[in-house]
Amino acid sequence: MRVGMGFDIHRLAENRPLILGGIRVPHPKGLLGHSDADVVLHALCDALLGAVGEGDIGLHFPDSDPRWKGAQSRDFIEKALEFVRRRNLKLANADLVLLAEAPKLSGHRQAIQRSVAEILSVKPDRVNVKAKTMEGLGPIGSQEAVASYAVVLLE
Ligand code: MG
Repeated sequence: MRVGMGFDIHRLAENRPLILGGIRVPHPKGLLGHSDADVVLHALCDALLGAVGEGDIGLHFPDSDPRWKGAQSRDFIEKALEFVRRRNLKLANADLVLLAEAPKLSGHRQAIQRSVAEILSVKPDRVNVKAKTMEGLGPIGSQEAVASYAVVLLE
């Protein structure tokens, strides 16, 4: 078995869609980034890469590379899953923590869970999504950013 963890944070900005776990969440602002800035899938990608000892997302998909401009983060996950398959491993489970003051994500939890499971090609019961606020503290609490943690177990 192999375990991996990931973290990511992106700044909220005007005129960007808010994409979390592969779905669009209605909100006046979205996350700034080179790709679709899906902070949930970026943390998950880093967890997968970490579990197979393949560095991190910046190593494989550098934002200096025009190939990844506007990329869909599900493509990053697909590449990470190739490393997983090459090692004859598969996902046992993924546990995700989303940190956002706004929008409130508790109502989107199940949709994000289903979307992430679909992207990982696993049943939804292998993916858990938690949504938390920062109680108004720090850059997330002041609605400047959204962050995500991910832990995966491969078997
Ligand atoms: Mg990122």
